Amino acid sequence: YSTAAVIEEPIIPNVDIKHTQLLINGKFVDSASGKKFPTYDPRTGDVIAHVAEGDAEDINRAVAAARKAFDEGPWPKMTAYERVRIILKFADLVEKHSEELAALETWDNGKPFQQAFKSELPLFVRLFRYYAGWADKIHGLTVPADGPYHVQTLHEPIGVAGQIIPWNFPLIMFAWKVGPALACGNTIVLKTAEQTPLTALLVGKLFHEAGLPPGVLNIVSGFGPTAGAALASHMDIAFTGSTETGQTVLELAAKSNLKPATLELGGKSPFIVCGDADVDKAVELAHFALFFNQGQCCCAGSRTYVHESVYDEFVEKATQRAKRRSVGDPFKSGIEQGPQIDTEQFEKVMRYIKSGTESSAKLECGGERFGSKGFFVQPTVFSNVQEDMLIAQDEIFGPVQSILKFRDLDDVIRRANTTRYGLAAGVFTQNLDTANKLSRALKTGTVWVNCFDVFDAAIPFGGYKMSGMGREKSVYSLNNYLQVKAVVTALKDPAW
Ligand code: ADP
Repeated sequence: YSTAAVIEEPIIPNVDIKHTQLLINGKFVDSASGKKFPTYDPRTGDVIAHVAEGDAEDINRAVAAARKAFDEGPWPKMTAYERVRIILKFADLVEKHSEELAALETWDNGKPFQQAFKSELPLFVRLFRYYAGWADKIHGLTVPADGPYHVQTLHEPIGVAGQIIPWNFPLIMFAWKVGPALACGNTIVLKTAEQTPLTALLVGKLFHEAGLPPGVLNIVSGFGPTAGAALASHMDIAFTGSTETGQTVLELAAKSNLKPATLELGGKSPFIVCGDADVDKAVELAHFALFFNQGQCCCAGSRTYVHESVYDEFVEKATQRAKRRSVGDPFKSGIEQGPQIDTEQFEKVMRYIKSGTESSAKLECGGERFGSKGFFVQPTVFSNVQEDMLIAQDEIFGPVQSILKFRDLDDVIRRANTTRYGLAAGVFTQNLDTANKLSRALKTGTVWVNCFDVFDAAIPFGGYKMSGMGREKSVYSLNNYLQVKAVVTALKDPAW
């Protein structure tokens, strides 16, 4: 591993942290309790800032503001075109502040700055422009019913959307949730993840600069069991996080008012390398599929299935590639991997590595902490992994690649599908028939063939089985934030 990367003197970004309060009804305010919590720099564990800590009372205040903005307007009562223009103006402002936002994202999350700046910020802007495009194209149907009736459907916003997002892609998850909800004319209370509260507050500010009326987008920083649970008990819910927390959120939704919920949860995605694959290319893509974003992706290709005919060569080359991965200060150019988000995740990853080394899997490289500070983990590769091992079953959420050998397509289909998850899968082959067979047989919400992690705004994303409910992005995501009203009008003269 690159040794230049041990963090003794972290690069401090040139960013002035202006917003640490809650954003309620268009204003930055302290939490009702006056409490604050620290958010940490994952490179060192040092405190970056203290942030207002919202709990149930703040959620109540935020919901009241969102309710008023919905019931009394102006948001849902504005013309769709007025909403389009505000969202587009916001996207322009974010584009202008891209560098500052990317630096703040890296500081709070630990992801490589180049990744945040060159790919995530442009995608964020693209997502909002995409949703702005939908805002004035949402309409119902005219329905030919039996009898003397004129029947039409209206696609109306649901009301106040409660949105809970995770820490692995703080800005992208903000866009996946806030974009469709606003395009459909809802108002929002968003709870950010306690690990990464900073960027949402800055973009919230920019949204108001773009002309968003007060109360339409309220942002509450805080913890899951307090602010998150209060939100889940309160309104229509969209949630992204682990499967276990998703179950809690759905239970709270059902127990309170049967609000509809969209859930985007965990995964254990297979990445299948077929016997005809160009091994070098397969190694690179499988590496990206797992190690991207420090392995902290719900859809990470965390079970690498390799056909027995190319298995030995693949393992050898995948290990070499992992050893070449540059780990270090995410602000340094050329760094591919920063720290894990926090000490809890770091320890969880290390526990899974330990369980792997204690099993009959073979540790090919890595397996240790990287450096002496912060939450860095060496890129780790296990070969000879079997389905019944913990590292093949659980979501590790870290830079740990598990390689499994398979014999034929039916064998790999059966094994790839033996998990409670069904978020995504990768298939690497030149054979069209193989690609077609696998794409249809895999029980996952996305199948990437000869590519991985393609997150275009127009492509739906979501889980089969315990990986979630509903779809985000794309035209499908609008359904989460709309309800259909049938308007049936008796005709005076049925002949006409
Ligand atoms: P992870 O384990 O990856 O951090 P979580 O599912 O715990 O994922 O967290 C994702 C989001 O869910 C965060 O914003 C977190 O604060 C929130 N959360 C955690 N527990 C609850 C809960 N009981 N009710 C509502 N939200 C929660």
